[in-house]
This record gives sequence, structure tokens and C-alpha cells, in this order.
Amino acid sequence: MEILAAASTTTILNCITSNSNGVIEDTSVCTPAFSLSLPSSHLSVARLSDYFNHHVKINSLKLVKQVHVHVIKLPQLSNSDVIAQELITSYLKFQDFDSALMVFFLGFGRNFIIWRSFLEEFKSFGGDPLEILETFSELHNKGVDFDSRILTVVLKICAISMSKWLGVEVHASLIKRGYDVDVHLKSALMNFYGRCWGTEYADNVFDEMPERGVLLWNEAIVAALQNENPMKALQYFQEMQFLFVKADGFTIAKALQACSKGGAIDEGKQIHGYLFRHDMQKDLVICNSLINMYAKSNKVELARSVFDSMKSCNLSSWNTIISAYASHGHFDDAMKLFHGMESDNVKPDIVTWNCLLSSHLQHGLYHQVLTILRSMLVAKLQPNPSSITPAIQAISELNWIELGKEMHCYVFKNGFDSDLYVQTTLLDMYVKADELAKAHAVFDLMKIRNIVAWNSLIAGYSSKGLFDNAMRLLNQMQKEGMNPDMVTWNSLLSGYAVHGCVKDGLAVVEKMKNLGMRPNVVSWTALISGCSQNGKYQDSIKFFYQMVENGISPNLATISSLLQACAGMSWLQKGKEIHNWCIRNSFNEDVLVATALIQMYIRSGSLQSAYEIFRWMKHKTVATWNCMIMGFAIHNHGKEGTKLFREMCENGIHPNAITFTALLSCCKNSGLFDEGWKYFDSMKTDYSIVPTIEHYSCMVDLLGRAGYLDEAWDFIKTMPVKPDASVWGSLLQSCRVHGNLNLGKIAARNLFELEPNKSSNYVIMMNLYAMLNQWEDVTRVRKEMTDRGLRIQRGCSWIEIYHKVHIFSEEEPHPDTGNIYFEMYQLVSEMKKVGYIPDYKSVYQDIDDVEKEKVLLTHTEKLAITYGLMKIRNGAPIRVIKSTRMCNDCHTAAKYISLVRNREIILKDGVRFHHFREGRCSCNDCW
Ligand SMILES: [Zn+2]
Ligand SMILES: [Zn+2]
Repeated sequence: MEILAAASTTTILNCITSNSNGVIEDTSVCTPAFSLSLPSSHLSVARLSDYFNHHVKINSLKLVKQVHVHVIKLPQLSNSDVIAQELITSYLKFQDFDSALMVFFLGFGRNFIIWRSFLEEFKSFGGDPLEILETFSELHNKGVDFDSRILTVVLKICAISMSKWLGVEVHASLIKRGYDVDVHLKSALMNFYGRCWGTEYADNVFDEMPERGVLLWNEAIVAALQNENPMKALQYFQEMQFLFVKADGFTIAKALQACSKGGAIDEGKQIHGYLFRHDMQKDLVICNSLINMYAKSNKVELARSVFDSMKSCNLSSWNTIISAYASHGHFDDAMKLFHGMESDNVKPDIVTWNCLLSSHLQHGLYHQVLTILRSMLVAKLQPNPSSITPAIQAISELNWIELGKEMHCYVFKNGFDSDLYVQTTLLDMYVKADELAKAHAVFDLMKIRNIVAWNSLIAGYSSKGLFDNAMRLLNQMQKEGMNPDMVTWNSLLSGYAVHGCVKDGLAVVEKMKNLGMRPNVVSWTALISGCSQNGKYQDSIKFFYQMVENGISPNLATISSLLQACAGMSWLQKGKEIHNWCIRNSFNEDVLVATALIQMYIRSGSLQSAYEIFRWMKHKTVATWNCMIMGFAIHNHGKEGTKLFREMCENGIHPNAITFTALLSCCKNSGLFDEGWKYFDSMKTDYSIVPTIEHYSCMVDLLGRAGYLDEAWDFIKTMPVKPDASVWGSLLQSCRVHGNLNLGKIAARNLFELEPNKSSNYVIMMNLYAMLNQWEDVTRVRKEMTDRGLRIQRGCSWIEIYHKVHIFSEEEPHPDTGNIYFEMYQLVSEMKKVGYIPDYKSVYQDIDDVEKEKVLLTHTEKLAITYGLMKIRNGAPIRVIKSTRMCNDCHTAAKYISLVRNREIILKDGVRFHHFREGRCSCNDCW
């Protein structure tokens, strides 16, 4: 002790100014702030401590040091833990960490409890725990001896700060000196090895202990738990029982924690039994651990029965059981318990409220989150960052950005704006609301930025296609020493993919690989879905195969995107393969995938399969219903579509605007004139849905197809929205069907103004003139087209035969062309016998009829149908896809082919499906 006192005296001596009669003054300050004018012999611990607390305004470091010196001089004071504590705190307040440490290591008596709190205090004043270890090392090397309590604390700090080697050094010196290792030190050693070196090392220390009390067993269990080995922890617990070591409350709590971590519900029940045998089942803390264990193992009823059996419960018990119910989504029970707390005279605390907030958020009950926050404020409980964060997330999900801004003000006023999680959540809210400037402002104000904040803003910019901003942030991020992670790269990749920049997206993939990262399922899915959304279906399928080759398994999102691609290409076989894959991997039970499957079957011409999936689905969203109704519309089964709509309403599903687009499409495609009007009126009056341009366009189509062209024209004139190209296109198409040139001209003029470069519009107009034999006008429109640099887009057709897609286009002849024409000539002669006459008006070239007939035979859908007849055996339907609208002659020809060959032909053109059967088409020649 003498050495110690000497050491600290020399350290402190340098800076004291003290007069001989024991009066300490701060000579650097004009007015003495502190004067201790009592004779030294009268000083007692209590009095000095009292001075620290009440009288003494120690407003400078110098004064602290003077007091310290004074204390050292008085032996009756220098063994006091209370004074040591005061000195440490005072030194820390003035950021003199060295002196604080000197008092810590060299001063006074040592009380284990005080040392524990030392670390917390040291850190709270901004001290680095490593400094403690450095000072210790220094003194240790100088040969200063420490007792077991200090060493215990040092080992604990080593464990916390992961100082692997210093801890080992301490252990080695203990062995060298033959130190009598007490139980606290032993457990600190185990804790250190468990944390820094793994369970096996902790086990070695444990095994070397000749006597193992419950304290050491507990340490072994904790070490196993820390190393994510809950089963090992349970094994220790069992060994304890073999060796008749009685477990204490701490052991039980940890063992139960091991059960819930390891999913060992049976072991948990055994421990429950153990508690009864040892009469520990009444212990409050243990009961709470039991509730927690059952709740985490999804046994809420068992958790409840423990709770109900408790004679008295504390706040923690209530919180645990409420959290058990809330986290499993049983909010009625949770709220009942919450209100039950009051009758039990227990006041909910911030933990209770926050648990309700976060669990409602997790279950998507966003309105309730805000209601709970309001009740919390009414109950005069100050929210903390953990209450605010779920509220901001709820607001973000509800897309109530104005409320979000108010929340931001609240955050600011209440000083939460420096909390990292609150900041990140706010940032994310602004990004999701497309308020990138505001998001960036929040970002700029953040003192510490975590990877989540960087990623959120980069994702915001790249999803909007602002790649320059995204790249600038990425560079800044790297400059500030933060490495982009998988999420960063994936958000950049998905931005590129969504905006159709496949090449840039692939460059990101390469970059990732160069950095040693393996693109994951999210990366690949971003590429696949980006391509699907941009109509690059073949790329989408290509990337899927690359993904599988790279050993990455698809997830639900991948499959949905892939099905979209199949639907886009109408690849029935590929779609069926994916469907089988989904069934094998139980993906088909997911509502998104099932809806995508329905969509794929509809678009690939297999309405029956789509409907089967629809019927089989247990949970359907509005999108599922809409998708199926639209399916009936594009396959011209309007009546079934309207029937399904009624069924949807009977099932309590509220239709939305898209439902009505689908419904009106059913009516217009199937000529359900009166019903169409009825639904159009009812959407406004019964469902309060304001009609959009899509709905108006459907109505123009409905009127036009029924031949009410003047009414359609009046309707357009009185529409509250400006007609768009789809409206004029519908009118022009109806004028062509009914041969109305006057209105056709009006429609064409407006249409050409809106879409001057869409060649299919000119083709319809040429079609109309040709129908009325006005060939000069046909030539004029044709010239207008060529002047604009447009050419007639014949489009291409494709057919899938036994897993292979055959594409027929003008540019590239099919390898089997010779045989196909041979077959086609035979087919045409058969057709002519039953009345087929080629429609020369579908050819707009100035050539004779023989030449025109030849031109008609080159139309790609005819080639595809013929090839299908040649190759597809056993009378299966021929399914052909055409990228543009089919001409009149092809439509007629398809009807005759279905008749003479007795084959069902399903043809999807740019707009809809035609089912040809026995010489008729499902569209009733109105398309
Ligand atoms: Zn044609
Ligand atoms: Zn048709």
C-alpha cells in the first residue's frame, strides 16, 4: 500500500499548491472557490464526501488535484471507496482520464461493485476502455501487484474490448505466480475465453477447475450462449444436475434462454418440471424467463398459463406476456392484457408501449401504430427513439408525407434528430415519398452515417434514374472510408435494370465480381425483373439461366418476374415448366406467384389453366381478381368476367379503378352494351371511383363497336378529360369496322397529331380507304408514311413447338420455308373449295390480284399457323402469337383453316386473343 500511495503522490505532487496548515486554494482563480479550513485531524470520510456533494464547487481540474493530494496525506481517508469514487468522477468530469485511472488502479480499498460501475462511468465521459488496459499494462510491467478484484475487472474489460492477448498475459502471470484464483476471477477468466477465444478455450479453463460452484457453471453456460451454441449451454445445465450442483435463478434464466434460442421446447418443458421439483416456480424472474421461452417457441398458451399461475407479477411479467401476444399478432389479447395492467395497479412503461408500437408495425397495422402513439402522448408518457421510429415507418407505409413532415418537426423539437435510427428512418421515409431533396438534407445533417443511410439515399437516386447523383454518393461514401456492401451495389443494379440500362447493370455485376462479391438472388432478380418490365423478355430468361448456372436459387420475386417474361412472350411451355418448378418448391402457394401464374396462362392463351389456379387459390388479393376478370376480357368471355365481378363483390372484396377497367373491357370485347353502361354509371355512384381516361376509352370503344359512332363522337366531346391516343384509336378502329369515313378522318387527324410516328395508325386509315375503294387516298396515306420515314410494320409471329420457339419474320426466313409454302398452297386450295376468297384490300400495293394473293401468303401468322399444322400432332390447339394486329385476310383465312382442318387455333395479336373454331372466331369479327 505504501508503494501505491507513493506512486500516486508523485503523480499528483507536480501540480499542487497547498499551504502548510491544510488549506487548499485554487491560486489560479481570483476568488477562491473552495476552501477547506478545517484542521486536518478533524476531517472524516463523511464530511469530505459531504463537501464533494453539497458545498464544494470544484470548478477546475487543479482543485480536484489539490483535494486528491490532501486525501493522500490523511491515512484515515485514503482507504475510503466513497472518496475514491468521488475523485474518479471528478477527474472524469474534467476529462483527465490518466489521473482517474491512477485512482482506479492504485488508490484505496477496492469494492467489487464500485469497480464494475467504473467502466460505465469511464465510457460515459468519453473515455476509451482501451486506455484502461494500457494503463494497467504499464503498471503491470513496472511490477505493481494487483489483487484479484482488480484482475477480475481487467479481464472483464479485456472480454468487452476483445483484447485477446492482454487477457492471456494476465492469465499467464496468475499461473506463474501461483496465484490463488478465487471464484470471481475464475469466472472472469471463463468469460474472457468464452468471448475472445471461443467455447473450447472457456471449456479448458472450466475443466481445469477442481471445484466448480454454481457461479462457474453459470459462466460456462453464458460462454456457450455467447458463442451461439445453445445446445452446449443446455448440456452444461444437464451436467450440473448429474453432479448435484443446485442451479440458481441466473442458471435457470440462461438455460431457458438457451431453449428458446435452440428451439428446444422439450428441454424447456423439462426445466419447467425441474422448477416444480425444486420449488422455484414461484420466483418472479424465473417465471418471466419461462413466459419468454414459451412465447419465443410459439407456445403462447403455455406462456399464458405460466402468467396466470403467478401470484404477483411485476412490470416485466406484464411486458413479457403482452409482447408474447403482440408479436404473434394476437392484438385483442394483447390489448386486453394492456388494459388489465391498470386494474392490477401496474403502470405501463415505455417498454410496454414500444412493444405495442413495433408489433403493430410488423403486422402491417399502420393506422393502429399512430393511434397507439397518440394514446401514449395522451397518457403523458414521453416517447423515445424506439417509439418514434415505428411511427415514422407507419407514416411512410401509408404514404402520408404531410404527417411525416409534422413528425419530422416533432422529432426536431424533442431532440430525437441526433438519434441515428430516427435519422435513418426519416431519410428512408423521404426517399420512399420521392422527396429526394429533403432526404438529402436529412442525410447532410447526420453526424454519423451508417451504411443503411448511405444505401437508402443511393437507392433513392438510382430508382429515379438519377445515376449521376447515385455515383457521386457512392464515391463520397468510399472516400469517407465506408465500403459499399451488397445492398449498395444491388440498389444501383436494380436502378439500371428498371430504367432499361441492361449494359450498365451488367457492368455493376462485373464490378461486384471484381470486388470478390458474389451477386446474390437479389442482384439477379433485379436484372431479370428489369428486363421483364422493359419488354426484354428474352434477356430476362437468359439471365435466369445464368443465375441458375451460378448456383443461385431463385426466390418468389425471381419467379414472378420470370412468369411476367413468359407472359410477355406468351411462352406457354416455359411457363408450364416454371409452374411445375413452383409446385415442387411450394412457391405456388404465394399469392404473388399464383397471380403471376394466372397472368402467364392468360397471356399464353390458356384461360382454362388460369381459371383452375384462380379457383384453387385460398387467399386472393384485389389484383388476383382483377387479373382474372381482365383474362376473361381479353379472351372475349365477357359474360364470365361480369359473373366473376359479382362473385368478387359478394366475397366482400372492394373493387378498385383497375377492376372497372377490366370489367368495361369485358363488356366492350363481348359487346355487352347495356351492362357496360350500367357498370360505368355504378362505378361513380355505388363505388365512388372517379372514371379515368382508361374507362372513357372503353366506353368509346363500346359505343363504336356497336355501331353508335355519332354517340361515341358526342361522348368524346362531353368527356371531362382530354381524349388521348387510346380514345381516338378506338374511334378510328370502329370507323374502319363500320366504314364511317367522316368520323374516321376526324379521329385520324387527332390520332396522327398525338402519335405521328406510329405506323399502325396509318395502316388502319389505309384499311378504311381500301374498304371504300378509295385507292388514291390509300396511296396518299402511304406516301405520308414514307415521308415520315415510317414503314408498315408487318410484325413477327411465333409459335412454340415442343419447347422450341419458332419465329417468323420478314427479315429472316424460317429454315423450313420451302416445305411451309408447299403445305400452304395445298391448304389454300382446300379452303377455296369451301368459299375462301383472298381479301385483296388488305394489300396496299399497286399490283395485280395474282401478285396480291402471293403477298397475302407471306403474312407471318399464316406461316406460323401452317408450320404448327405440320408439326403439332394429335390435334392439340395451334397457339400463335403475333406482335401486331392481324389483317382482315389473315383473320378470314384462320377461320377457314379451323374449319377445313378441324383444328382449334388460338391467336394473340397486339391487342387481344382470337379463338378460331369450326370456321368462327370468338371476337365475332369485331376487333
Ligand atoms: Zn395478314
Ligand atoms: Zn377474331
